[in-house]
Amino acid sequence: MLKTIKQNLLKSAKMLRFFDLSSKSRWRQNKLLILAYHGISLEDEHRWDSSLYMPPDLLRRRFELIKQHDCPVLPLNEAVERLYSQTLPKKAVVITFDDGNYDFYQRAFPIIKEFGFPATLYLTTFYSGYHKPIFNVAAKYLLWKAQSKTLDCRTLLGRGEQINLATEVERQKAYDLLFAHALENKFSAEQKNDLLEEMCGNLQIDYAEFCAKRLMQLMNAAEVSKIAAAGVDVQLHTHRHRVPLEERLFRREIEDNRRAITAAADYRATHFCYPSGEHDARFFPWMEAEGVVSATTCETALSTSQTNRFLLPRLVDTCSLSEVEFEGWLTGISHFLPQRKTS
Ligand SMILES: [Zn+2]
Repeated sequence: MLKTIKQNLLKSAKMLRFFDLSSKSRWRQNKLLILAYHGISLEDEHRWDSSLYMPPDLLRRRFELIKQHDCPVLPLNEAVERLYSQTLPKKAVVITFDDGNYDFYQRAFPIIKEFGFPATLYLTTFYSGYHKPIFNVAAKYLLWKAQSKTLDCRTLLGRGEQINLATEVERQKAYDLLFAHALENKFSAEQKNDLLEEMCGNLQIDYAEFCAKRLMQLMNAAEVSKIAAAGVDVQLHTHRHRVPLEERLFRREIEDNRRAITAAADYRATHFCYPSGEHDARFFPWMEAEGVVSATTCETALSTSQTNRFLLPRLVDTCSLSEVEFEGWLTGISHFLPQRKTS
């Protein structure tokens, strides 16, 4: 309902040339739109989770719209400096990607090069040297792929029943059992992958073939070096994709992450993105001590010079965001409309 009202308002605004007026206004001049992307599908991942993945064609279309609206795309570091010195050009945009999956290298990177846009990649590094799928996402995706099948939990986990994977509720139940099993047994990353392999055996899925496609895997160090050498700005996203509430552990996440990035990209990363958008004011002095310059969230808004530099909002762009809504953000008019909550 809210979405329909908003779409209609935006369509009327476009017809009335408010997009034009809004984008030319001084108001939009002093504000920064930071875009956030996650996965760009290698295959059909967006059909499984359209909030996490989008097809490459949609990313290309978004970039075309940025060009059509004459939005200057700035490197993150420059944009942050100019946000606070109030010297941003009109309609300034920053493009960011999270995590550093192999699909970034294979799908997003060629489109970034094609348009010549600066882009920041917030990279999580623990799995970077691991060459195996990330358990949580891969398990959920593979259960979705196996929706015509039945998972035999008794054989796989030594407890539970046969779960028919036809519905979302049943797939979630199967995932919860797998996750609990890994947690109770304190499985390492490697043991979790063994469990994933056994799950594939149980569901007659070719695990080796799945691994070879590199879906839900991070880029390796050589690939990170290659994108960094080509100008992608690789920045901090914690080593293990988590934000501990203890200073020593939090700072270790940044230090380990930074060390791995420096090894591949040869500079000291100073911009941070909260994994899963989990931010907390307790982190601010710890980031300060680590020399972190800015931190981005997944809250939807434009940044102004009044925005806390450790709470820079981002528009998480997904398949469910319509073209007119996206244009509304580029021109700034969406800022005045009611917002849906993003996770
Ligand atoms: Zn992330």
